[in-house]
This record gives sequence, structure tokens and C-alpha cells, in this order.
Amino acid sequence: MGQAGCAPGDPDLQPGQRDRRALCRQDGEGGDARQGCRLRAARPECVRRAARRADGGARVGPLRAMAWPGGAFSMRSRLQDNMASSIAELTAQAKVAHEANPDNLCAKTLLEAEVQSWMATLPAAKLDELALCAKSGLDNHDSGLGCYAVDPTNYDDLAPFFDRVCEGYHHGGGKVHKTDWSLEGVEGLPADGQLDLQKLGLGKELSMRVRVGRNLTAFPLPGLMTKADRVNFEKTMLKAFDVLKANPAYGGNVYSMTPNDVWKEVTGDAENPNLISADKYKELVAAHVMFKDMAADPYLASAGIASDWPCGRGCYQSADGGFIIWFGEEDQLRIMCMAKGFVLNSVFDRLHTALQAVEAIDGIAFATSSKYGYVTSCPSNLGTGMRASVHVAVPNLTKDGTDAKAKAAAKPLGLSVRGMGGEHTPIGKDGTIDLSPSSRLFITEAEIVTKLYNGIKLLLEKEAEAA
Ligand code: ADP
Ligand code: MG
Repeated sequence: MGQAGCAPGDPDLQPGQRDRRALCRQDGEGGDARQGCRLRAARPECVRRAARRADGGARVGPLRAMAWPGGAFSMRSRLQDNMASSIAELTAQAKVAHEANPDNLCAKTLLEAEVQSWMATLPAAKLDELALCAKSGLDNHDSGLGCYAVDPTNYDDLAPFFDRVCEGYHHGGGKVHKTDWSLEGVEGLPADGQLDLQKLGLGKELSMRVRVGRNLTAFPLPGLMTKADRVNFEKTMLKAFDVLKANPAYGGNVYSMTPNDVWKEVTGDAENPNLISADKYKELVAAHVMFKDMAADPYLASAGIASDWPCGRGCYQSADGGFIIWFGEEDQLRIMCMAKGFVLNSVFDRLHTALQAVEAIDGIAFATSSKYGYVTSCPSNLGTGMRASVHVAVPNLTKDGTDAKAKAAAKPLGLSVRGMGGEHTPIGKDGTIDLSPSSRLFITEAEIVTKLYNGIKLLLEKEAEAA
């Protein structure tokens, strides 16, 4: 298909054939400031902006008199409403955000003298991209991290910005990330290698989940994707899902939310073969199989990550329900295993095997960085991209009806607490929380799951003390 790519009606983009026109577009963990790109309450103006953007992607801003090298389009055609269009404007926005919240890492970093000098050397196209990366934190002053990469190359080509953000958040001190799924020799691993929660005195099965964020090199990251990219990405992944469906170890189904008219407009096919109803979507969200409506998230909306909702959004689920791949959320892919039980190794090992099966599929090439391991939209997820969690009841720590004490107890242990529906949702009525290690970068996969096991043990001690 060559250069042209993703215009409505075009054939789908093949992995490895990077759509050059995609390059011509511009466009503390919510409740847990430690973790995320965003924080807390939805700001009405952001929600309004998101609603205006629900126009299917044709958001045309004031065109700038420059184009991407080799491309005929300006990123300005993808600009969000109030994105900075000069260094002076970007700096002014950063100053306002920094004054409102000195912990907004994005704003703080943009104001550093070295970053300011470096920005002055950037071509206009890269400044546009940087402005989009920074937009969420500049719109949402309460952001903790406040920025998202919008292209897999951003951790290299915008390194003077992202390196400082990553240092400020992860405190790596020049470390290089290493991937390692082998539990052998990991500190804190029980002698038999089994991370069996029954040994911690738990008598009732827990819901266990391990997920990783992954992105293909062949597409921009979700913040810079057009509507056509999103649908073409989905169609590209269908070939991979077919391989999984044909494998007896997986089987299963694809559930898609891309409306038929958009599917037809982008792919030329009569209808989306995997389209689900609104009721089925609700059922899948309630079962923790599908993700929530991203357009309602002002941080993702500002970043362009939630744009074109629900086009190109959906998931693959294995026949037994336990292996799931989301497409079109904060990362192009979130790949996970879930099960009720006691032995964390079961979901961890299954995910490792399943990831190897996915990576072996023709056309799947995950984006990586030499410094930061697996590339993710949010710098907080870099490295492993892994969040390993359990739903565990801590009624004593939550007897005031809030997660405040559980969070306070978990934080020094390097653990994060979320609600029963994930980030920004309430805890269970019986005091059940979502507990996971906070680190993703400069830690191995094996260390994360071992840390979850030992973290549950330590939090249960705090729970007993709170009786
Ligand atoms: P992530 O960012 O890791 O994908 P979120 O906080 O966004 O996690 O939550 C996504 C979904 O995953 C939500 O439905 C949440 O309830 C579900 N989830 C997370 N951990 C578990 C778990 N241990 N068991 C069942 N569902 C889980
Ligand atoms: Mg999430």
C-alpha cells in the first residue's frame, strides 16, 4: 500500500508499513498521585472539549505554515482546541500550571532552563508534538505526571524532556531497564517458588490479574492516532486474534465497539464483524473484561488518547475468559491474565507464555526503548508496563468507608490502592480494594509479582493491627 495509508476507504495499514501521514498529524495515578499521568476530579471544561471532539476526528485547528518533513500536512490539523502554538505560549501555560501545582511534573520540567534552551533548537513539527505530549498536564493543573508520549519514538526524539520527567518520577539515576520474567533468585520468593496466598492465611479465593501495556512500532501512540488509524489498528490486530482463536490454548472471541458506518468508511468492508451491543459492553465492563468509557476521563481526553471514542476500541477474550487483550485504551494494547484463585504464579506464568505467543505472530513488533524497556503512553508505565493486582478485603483499614487508611498503610510498602472498578472508582462495600505494587520501571516482571505477594502479607499485618 506504500505511503498513503489511512484515509477513509483506504485499505488497512500493514504492520511495518508506517503510515507517513500519521506523522503529519497532531493533533499520579488518578486517585493515586504516585502512579499516574492524571489526578482526580473531572474538570467540566475538559469534558466539554472531549464532547466537541466526538465529531469523528475531523478536528481542524488553525493551520500553521509548516509541515512535517516529507509530509504535506501540518500537525495543526490534529491540534486540540487550546494547544500551545509557540514556545512562548507553551511556557506561559507551563507557568500557570506550575503556579497552581508545583508538583505537576510536566509543567515543572518545561520550565527548566536546559529544556527551554533545547526547545529553541527544535523544528516546529517536533514542538507541536511536544506540545501535544504536554497538553494533558497543562490543561489539568492537578496532574501528577501530566504528560504522555504520542509516538513510540518520543522517548528518544524528545529525550531532553522525557528523561527529566522519568528521572523526576522514577528516580532511576541513569539506570537502564532490564526485562526478566524468571522468578529464580528473586528476593522474597518463598523457597518452593510458589506465590500461594493460602500460605498467608487467606481462605477465600481472590481475583488476581496481571497486565502489561504494549504498543506496536507500526502505529503512532493513541494520543496521535486518527480515527482511521484506530480502526486500521483494530483491523491489523484481527489477524493476530485469528491466530489466537485458532490455537486450542486460547480460542475465544473479539468484542468491538467500532460503529458499522465508521468501519465501512475506513476499511471499505460492509460491516464490523465483531460489533457488540451497548448492553454487552456494559456486561463486559462489569465483569472487568472491558475498559470504561475513556471519553469521560478529562486527562485522557486532553491528551487526545480518548479521541474518536468508541472507534477502534474493544477486546479479545480467550474461550476460558482468563486471557484478555484490550485494544484502543491508554496504550494500543493492554494484555492481561485474570483468574480467581490463590497462586499468583498461575496468572503470571500464563501471561508470560501468552505474550510470547502474541509476539511470535507475524507483524507484531512491540515498541521498546534502549533505556526504558517497553514503551507506553504514560511514562509511569514504562519498563515492564506491568500492573499485578489482587482484589483483597481489608475491612478494618476501610471501616470509615474510605480507602484513606488503606492507602496510607500501602504507600510506604510501595503499593497502590484502587477501587473495585479500577482507577478512580470506589472500594467495595465489604472493604475490598484493588492492591498492586506501584513500580513498573527499573524493576523486573518477576520482582513485581513477588512484591505483590509480600505486599499482601505486609498489608494484612496492618489490617490485623487496625482491628
Ligand atoms: P489497569 O490500568 O491496570 O488496566 P484499571 O485500574 O484501569 O487497571 O482497571 C481496569 C479494570 O481492571 C477494572 O475493571 C478493574 O476492576 C479491573 N481489575 C484490576 N485488577 C483486578 C483484579 N485483581 N481482579 C479483577 N479485576 C481487576
Ligand atoms: Mg487503567
